[in-house]
Amino acid sequence: MKENLLSLTYKEMEDLVVQLGEKKYRAEQIFSSLHMGKTLDEMTNIPKALVEKLKENYDDEVLEIIKEQVSLDGTRKFLYKLRDDNVIEGVLMGYKFGYTICVSTQVGCRMGCKFCASGLDGLVRNLTAGEIMGQIIKVNQMLGGDLKNRKVTNIVLMGSGEPLDNFDNVAKFLEIANDKHGLNFSDRNISLSTCGLVKNIYKLADLGRQINLCISLHAPNDDIRHRIMPVSKSCTMDELLKACEYYAKKTNRRILFEYIMIKNVNSSRENALELAKKLSGHNYIVNLINLNEVKENDFKSCSQETIDNFARILKDYKINVTTRRSLGKDIDGACGQLRRKYIKKG
Ligand code: SAH
Repeated sequence: MKENLLSLTYKEMEDLVVQLGEKKYRAEQIFSSLHMGKTLDEMTNIPKALVEKLKENYDDEVLEIIKEQVSLDGTRKFLYKLRDDNVIEGVLMGYKFGYTICVSTQVGCRMGCKFCASGLDGLVRNLTAGEIMGQIIKVNQMLGGDLKNRKVTNIVLMGSGEPLDNFDNVAKFLEIANDKHGLNFSDRNISLSTCGLVKNIYKLADLGRQINLCISLHAPNDDIRHRIMPVSKSCTMDELLKACEYYAKKTNRRILFEYIMIKNVNSSRENALELAKKLSGHNYIVNLINLNEVKENDFKSCSQETIDNFARILKDYKINVTTRRSLGKDIDGACGQLRRKYIKKG
């Protein structure tokens, strides 16, 4: 398949344009138009000859939205079709300050978390930087936004896939999303969620960006973590927490720990106490999320009372706790469910 123009950084676009014998300023015109959602044929300011030359070796479209579901609470879920007919999903959440888009970084996932529907069939392939970027561009355009008047204000890399298992493409995506000739997202408006690939947490810290880091912790100790997240066997929780400390110090950002509440697995009073002791004394946030039950496994969600009790114990230890508004429950909001339905039907 041809490389996609959206996978090019601004510098790479400049080099390409010059290499094709054109003036450098063409790079800005093309880059900006692409990031507004235009195809090459829609760029009337670009000479036809250049458009043709670009088309010889590059593709200018990455994906299309083939299905959309709107939840009663306004959350929208999209199914995107990639050029090779793979499908990925994304979610758009409206807040007072604007729209947050949740994007996928891989088709499928190979982390194998037991409660998650995304990884049931393993990893199909990594997404390119352009395919990650394309999800945002498509939705921003659909909302009537452009570069100056951006409708999507925040990005969370929390869709299907493990972003740190696709490190190079994700790092490139972060550079492209941040570029002032494009959508110009500030690092502080981007969050990356990982199941805890420790080596790459260090690598991410060393990029020198201020991306918000979210860790899918989901357990107070290694035993429970190993049971529900096989990937955790490659490092201990202590090593993971050490990497988090390094990240926080290096980037000056507060780490957020995601903790799914699963009945009879990780949600008891003892579990809360153990977690509280481990996390206290740091400037961390814990986000308690009730499990989104999926039919592919037997895990059950918790009562509000269990969640409130768990939160209270953490608060007693002076830990910042939030309980996530569960959005989009009626539209297959949990990871991977919409895509799975689509694939199984086909
Ligand atoms: N691989 C990354 C990001 C994708 S998953 C990570 O693990 O963080 C995004 C979040 O949804 C993760 O915290 C994941 O653990 C959580 N998740 C997966 N399945 C879920 C379910 N059934 N209910 C609630 N949250 C779920």
